[in-house]
Parts: sequence; structure tokens; C-alpha cells
Amino acid sequence: MIVNFNLKKKFRNRLEKDVNLANYNWFNLGGSAEYFFKAEDKDQLKEFLKFASKNNLKITTLGAGSNTLFRDNGVKGVVLKLIKNFSYIKLIDKNILDVGAATLDRKVANFAKDNNLGNFEFLSCIPGSIGGAIVMNSGCYDNEISKILVSITVIDKKNLTEIEIKKEDINFFYRGTNLSNDFIIISAKFKGLAGNKDVIEKKQNDLIKRKKQSQPSQTKTCGSTFKNISKNKKAWMLIKESGCEHFKEGDASISEKHCNFFVNNGNAKSSDIESLIKKVKKKVHETTGVNLELEIKIIGE
Ligand SMILES: Cc1cc2nc3c(=O)[nH]c(=O)nc-3n(C[C@H](O)[C@H](O)[C@H](O)COP(=O)(O)OP(=O)(O)OC[C@H]3O[C@@H](n4cnc5c(N)ncnc54)[C@H](O)[C@@H]3O)c2cc1C
Repeated sequence: MIVNFNLKKKFRNRLEKDVNLANYNWFNLGGSAEYFFKAEDKDQLKEFLKFASKNNLKITTLGAGSNTLFRDNGVKGVVLKLIKNFSYIKLIDKNILDVGAATLDRKVANFAKDNNLGNFEFLSCIPGSIGGAIVMNSGCYDNEISKILVSITVIDKKNLTEIEIKKEDINFFYRGTNLSNDFIIISAKFKGLAGNKDVIEKKQNDLIKRKKQSQPSQTKTCGSTFKNISKNKKAWMLIKESGCEHFKEGDASISEKHCNFFVNNGNAKSSDIESLIKKVKKKVHETTGVNLELEIKIIGE
């Protein structure tokens, strides 16, 4: 398919070909997206989904890319990113927030704090978007996004219908859900607990401090590579116990601060990160008998 003048005009210059994905994920890695589409609003998104379906284009939805490793050979079809009108926060009732899926988690935490709403503090420690956080059921410090969720609104890629799904109708588990891959989350409603701004701010700052002490910041990483086995059996413990802490592949290594965080030191390839993942998984299995499961998503050819 050629992205010509007419197509560009139809989608307000938001459809591009051969876009370098390294600019769109926290590892700063990956080849090109065959097509990359930034949807500004719901109408444009639906229009594009219709077009993609007609042209048999496979769609990969991307949030802030803080949990995604794109492979070196890129991604076939379209990588879809929600922007502009999908990033908003509204207080729609005393303690209910309506939030666009592209909104960054920390912005939601700050908005809730400014409106004296508690229970959102942990979101200030997660560097992704609301859409990504829901798909991953992200959380930390005994909290996770499903606990504050009321409902989500999705567009079904297959038939373009818009559906609101109540939290009770979704099966959330540790770092995942049973939501269909055909759903593009466009917004979500959350319920907070009325509180005091100063108390909320203190709790938020304490969590941020705790995070900074235990995890690397300003680093090319996608956070925890593997899922924890249980509260008392964390992936980092198994990695350490198996003697993998100093494993390296090309310019990819394991963070000195947190050995479940894998790092691109600047010149790594996606394949280096993937080889490191395989090497660690194998060693942990040989040493402890545990089969580590990936938390990060690996996408591409
Ligand atoms: C430094 C660092 C610290 C981290 N700490 C934590 C932590 O404490 N706890 C934790 O849980 N995670 C943590 N993470 C991982 C990551 O931030 C979370 O998983 C985050 O919620 C991912 O959001 P994202 O928008 O970046 O998702 P992406 O990486 O962009 O996507 C993740 C998945 O969500 C899907 N997706 C994204 N948006 C949508 C949408 N609108 N509709 C449908 N599907 C969508 C994607 O297709 C993909 O499958 C950390 C990451 C980093 C880099």
C-alpha cells in the first residue's frame, strides 16, 4: 500500500510508512513499523479502523511503550497510537474520574491528589499510559489498577462498536486480564477515596522515594522483565540465586540496582535483550526448576 497525498489528507497526516519504533518505547529499540497511525480522536480512529480492515492491515496498539520490546525487524501492519483527545482527565462525580486511555498514569495520580482523591498514589510510580496499565493490570506496593477501576470503554476492531465494560465483567489477574485483543481501550472510569491533599501527597512522595531507592531511573529499560512467582518468591530473587546478575549480551545487561530490570546500555539490539532473556530463563530453570514467565511484551518479526 502506498501512503499517497490523498491518504495523508484523509488521515490528517497521521498515517506514516516505515516509522522507526525505537522512538516509541522505553528500551529505545526495534525496527520500523510498516505503517504507524496516530489517532487524534474517536471519529478518526473509527475511520482508520474501517480503512485498515478493508486493506487487511493487522493492528498493534501501543501505549507509552514502557512494557514493550519491538524486534529488530520491525512490525508488519500498523502500529496504532492514541494521542490528543485520548489524553484527558475529568472529575465526573465527587470521587469518579473519567480518563482517556492515552493519559499518562502519573498525570492521573497528580490530578487525583489535587482533587483530594486517594488510592491513586501508586500510579505515580508507573511510567505508562492508562490503556497499557489496564491491559497489564499494572500495580505496585500492594495496589493494582483493577482495584480502583469502575469500567472501561473500548472499540472493537472487528465491528467498530463502542462498548462500556464494567470491571466486574473483566477477569483481572496478576499483570494481565482476559480482555480480547480486538479491543482498543479508549477510556476508563475510576473511583477514588475522598481524602486530604497533603496526606495523599505525602503517601505519593513516599512511594516515589521507595521506587527510586530500589529501581533504576533514567535508564533504557521496560521495568520488570519477568513476572514474580509469588509475594515471597520474586523473579529478581531467582535471577540472583541463579547467579545471572552479571550476564550480558552485546550491549544489553542486567541493572545493578534491580536484577529483574534488563537494560539497553546504548548500543544494544532488540535481539541482545531477547538473547539475555533466554539465557537468564534457561539458567533460572536449570538452577531452581522455575519457568519464569515474561512480563514485558515482545512484538514483531
Ligand atoms: C522504569 C519502569 C518501572 C516500571 N514499574 C512498574 C511497576 O511498578 N508496576 C507495573 O505493573 N509495571 C511497571 N512497569 C511496566 C510498565 O510501565 C507497565 O506495564 C505499564 O502499565 C505499561 O503501559 P504502557 O502504556 O507503556 O503500555 P505499552 O508498553 O505501550 O503496552 C503494553 C500492552 O498494553 C497494550 N495496550 C496499550 N494501550 C492500549 C490500549 N489503549 N488499548 C488496548 N491495548 C493497549 C499493548 O498492546 C501491549 O500489549 C515499569 C516500567 C518501567 C520502564
